[in-house]
Amino acid sequence: MEEETILNIGFDDTDSPKGMCTTFLAYKIVDSLQKQKTVFLDFPRLIRFNPNIPWKTRGNGAVAIKIKTKNPSKIKNQVKNMISKYSDTKNGANPGLVFLESPFIPVEFVKFSNLALWQLINRDHAKKFAKRNNLEVYFQGNGQGLIGAIGAIGYDFHDHTLELLSYRKKSKFGKERKISSESVKIMQDQTSPSTFNSFDVEKERVLIMPHGPDPVFYGIRGENVDSLLRATTILKNEEKLDGYMIFKSNQGTGDHLTNELNAENMKPYASGKITGIVSNMPRIANGGHVFFKIISKTHEFWCAVYKPTGMSTVASNLIKGDKICVGGGVRKASKNFPRIINLEFLDILNLEKKMSTSNPDCNKCHKKMKSKGMHQGFQCIRCGKKSPKKISFEVSRKIKKQLYLPKISAHRHLTRPLQRIGTVNDKFDFDESVSWFCVYR
Ligand code: ATP
Repeated sequence: MEEETILNIGFDDTDSPKGMCTTFLAYKIVDSLQKQKTVFLDFPRLIRFNPNIPWKTRGNGAVAIKIKTKNPSKIKNQVKNMISKYSDTKNGANPGLVFLESPFIPVEFVKFSNLALWQLINRDHAKKFAKRNNLEVYFQGNGQGLIGAIGAIGYDFHDHTLELLSYRKKSKFGKERKISSESVKIMQDQTSPSTFNSFDVEKERVLIMPHGPDPVFYGIRGENVDSLLRATTILKNEEKLDGYMIFKSNQGTGDHLTNELNAENMKPYASGKITGIVSNMPRIANGGHVFFKIISKTHEFWCAVYKPTGMSTVASNLIKGDKICVGGGVRKASKNFPRIINLEFLDILNLEKKMSTSNPDCNKCHKKMKSKGMHQGFQCIRCGKKSPKKISFEVSRKIKKQLYLPKISAHRHLTRPLQRIGTVNDKFDFDESVSWFCVYR
């Protein structure tokens, strides 16, 4: 009898801004594998990597699938053919596909994946990694997709969320998506906090629908299968959909901001966090964006808080001496600015006392004294009482010692939303018999 092996399949960069979507290709691959009665060992993974790399199409997502099979060669060939057939290479996709036949994930994969989450990786590094580890890989174009493909297999979850992605029928690709926004609002009210980031109440905006020509109709993010399936029954859309698939993801975990940035690793496009002391008065630039510096371990770093994040007012109220921890992406130096961290969170750890001064009061007449001129002290104009210097007093701060997050409309896929602060979802809740995948036939 043939032995069963565990096969991990990772792929990325199959899409372009003009069409396709790596998750849709995953849906097609799963459909074809299901028809052959393949055993799936977990949800397909949708892993988001460093959101600050410049060449991503949208959210820098890659996919991996874990299955048990008696015929890995046949499956590898099928997947390879599908990647080659469906990838949008003519519009710039650089697909990468990686196979790992192993019941466990080698530590090198985990390390590679961790690095891809917050640093920029050279594609030659991925090619060398594949060679060194004797991996079966396939790529087209420049092979950039190998980075996400290796990383998606190697991602070591400590916390996860799920996303139910529903797909449109081919005849609808590129056409306007219509959904009742009221139904999305109701869905959020009835399923949150088991679902998150579905509707922006402040801007009255639906957040589950993309706007590009890709095949996704909507994506509902949440914590468990039941809530996601329930959410689909509340939504009202007239369009007949093709089907859906539930992915296990690092979205909403904030994992890209867990590494410490410092003078050595703060390279352009890196993501991470840094703790330091505010070292100048924040400047408010045109458009309401706020810029300030922090000192951390004797190095000074510029920070930028853009108006649309909704955190600029908080940043403008920082003063020299405040201790903060900030997370974000490093922007390359420009003609007008040095390297700068674009903030994705601002955690105020300690607030400096804000002091101000004023002319002294006359304690007999209860009036402010008047200055007698430079270095000549102050005097009460009523009773003539004198005082040598100004008095200083503490001014109350307009900001608090707390974590400030961007507005929901400025969230990235990886941003940990407020409702997930302190939450860890580490349950292994995959059950093959549950409806994690469905094609409406
Ligand atoms: P979608 O979200 O629709 O799948 P995308 O935003 O993921 O699209 P891709 O077309 O997949 O965009 O392009 C991202 C590319 O960047 C991929 O080739 C991926 O392998 C690569 N990549 C991912 N992480 C890194 C990293 N840390 N350093 C360098 N390249 C990376």
